[in-house]
Amino acid sequence: MLIAQFKPLARVGRAFKERAAPLFAAICLSLSISIDAQAQVANALPLLGDGSDMSISAERRLGDRIVRELYRDPDFIDDPVLSDYVQGVWQPLLGAARARGDLTPELDERFAWRIILGRDRSVNAFALPGGYFGLHLGLLAVVSSRDELASVLGHELSHVTQRHISRLISKSKQQTPWMIGAMILGALAASKNPEAGNAMMVGGQALSAQSQLNFSRDMEREADRIGFGVMTQAGFEAQGFVGMFDKLQQASRLNDNGTYPYLRSHPLTTERIADMQSRLPLGAPHPAPIPFDMTHAMLSARARVLSNPGPDALRGWLKQADDVGLSRLTPAQQAGVLYGATLAASQMRDAAEARKWFARLQNLVPDGPEAVRQMRWLGLEIELTAGDRPAAQFLALGVGAGLDAVNMPGVTALRRPDLMLQAQLATQGKQPQAIDQAVQNLQGWLVSQPQDALAWQWLASLYAARNQGLRALRAEAEVRIAQLDFPGSLDRLRAAQDRLRTTGASSSSADHIDASIIDTRRRQIEALLKEQVTEP
Ligand SMILES: [Zn+2]
Repeated sequence: MLIAQFKPLARVGRAFKERAAPLFAAICLSLSISIDAQAQVANALPLLGDGSDMSISAERRLGDRIVRELYRDPDFIDDPVLSDYVQGVWQPLLGAARARGDLTPELDERFAWRIILGRDRSVNAFALPGGYFGLHLGLLAVVSSRDELASVLGHELSHVTQRHISRLISKSKQQTPWMIGAMILGALAASKNPEAGNAMMVGGQALSAQSQLNFSRDMEREADRIGFGVMTQAGFEAQGFVGMFDKLQQASRLNDNGTYPYLRSHPLTTERIADMQSRLPLGAPHPAPIPFDMTHAMLSARARVLSNPGPDALRGWLKQADDVGLSRLTPAQQAGVLYGATLAASQMRDAAEARKWFARLQNLVPDGPEAVRQMRWLGLEIELTAGDRPAAQFLALGVGAGLDAVNMPGVTALRRPDLMLQAQLATQGKQPQAIDQAVQNLQGWLVSQPQDALAWQWLASLYAARNQGLRALRAEAEVRIAQLDFPGSLDRLRAAQDRLRTTGASSSSADHIDASIIDTRRRQIEALLKEQVTEP
C-alpha cells in the first residue's frame, strides 16, 4: 500500500506499538505516592463510608490529586486546535446530558467536566474521579468522524454521571483515597507502556489491586445505553456508535490490546454488541458508514503528527504527500495527507516546504466556515514557524488588528485557537499595537474561562513583552492554579510581593490594584493548602 496513513487497522496498530517515549515521570511519581500512602495507612486515616457512595466533594478532591500529576506529565498536551475540536463535541454532549437529567445541577457545578489531552499514540479515553477525563491523541487519530468521537465521550461521560466511579471506590473500602489515586496513576502509566506496568508491580501493590478499578459489565452496559441516548440527543449520528464498535471489534479480533488500552478497560462482550444492535432502527442492521469528512480528516492527521513527533515520522508525511498514488485517494483522504505534510514540514521548521503543501491543500479544501478556519489556523502556524515575515505581514493576516476584522465569509467570533495564535504572533512580532490587542482579547476570554492555563501563559508572555513584570508573575501564578499546582502558584505570588517590596510600588493606582489582587490570591491559596494538609 502506498499511503501508510490509510493502511488497514492491523498495520496501523503495529505502527503505534513502536512508540518509544516512556513516561518515567508519571511512573516514579505514582510509586512515591503509593509508598506514602502505605505509610499513612498505619495512621488509620478515616475509611470511606460503609457501602455508601463516596461523597461528591471527596471524589472531586481525589480527581484533583490525580489530575495535578497528569498536568505535570510530559505527555500532557494542550493543542488549541485539537482542544477546540474536542470541545465542539464535548459541549453538546454535556448539554444533552443536562437536558436529559443525567447530569444533575449539583454534579454539574461541583465536578470539573474537563478533558485532558495526552500526546500518547495508544487508543484510549478514560473517566477519572471528579469529572475529569483523559483522551489520547491516538484515539483522535483512529476515529473516522465526530460522531465516533461523540460515542466514546458520551460513554465515558455516562460513567461519571451515573457515579460509577464513586461506587467502585466505595467498594475498595480498605484503600485510602491516596492509594486509589496512586493505583489510577499506575494503571494509566501501565496502559501507555507495558514495561512500565511491570515496574509498577515490583514497586508496589498498586497494579495487583487494579482490577478493583475496572467497571463491571453492568456498568459498561449502562454507560453504553445512556451514552447512546446522550450522543443522539446531542445531534450526533447513531452510525458513529456502530463505527466505533466496528473499530474496537476489529482491533480485538487482531488481539491488539497493547495498542488499544481502551479495549482492556472496555472489553466487547457479546451482551454489549447485542445491546448496541438492538438500539438501531429495525431493517437497518448495519447503516452505511459516515463519509470521511474533510475537516475531520485534517484534524485526525493533526493528531497523528503531534502524537508522533520524531524526525522519521515527520519525514514520512512528506513522502506520503509526494507519492504518485495520492491522487487515487478520496479528496478527504488527500486533504488528511496534505495537512499532515504541511504540519510536519512546519514542525521541522521548513517553511518553504510547508507553504508548498499548504498551497496544494488550499486547492482541495472547499469553502465552508469550518474548513476555512482550519486552513487559516494552519496558515498562521506556518508563518509562526517561519518567523521571517515583517509585522506588516501579520497585520495583513488580520492578526494585529484583531482577528474579527478578517474578511472571511462565515467567520466572525474569535475562537480559542484564534486567541492563542494571535498571542503567539504578537509575542513574536513585538509590535506594541498587536500586543495590546492580544492582551485585551485574552483578558476578555479569561473572564469567562479563568481555568485556561494556556491563556494565562500567553498573557504572562505578553505582559513580560510590555515590561509588566508584576502582572507577568501574577499570570504565571494563575497558570499553576489552573493546573492545581498550588505550591507552585504560591512561589510566584510571593516572588511578586518580594518584587513589590524591593522596587517599591509606584504611586500609580494600577500598581495598587495589582498589589491588592496578588495579596488576595496569596491568602486564598495559603488557605487552600492548609485545608489540603488537614484533609484525609
Ligand atoms: Zn466504559
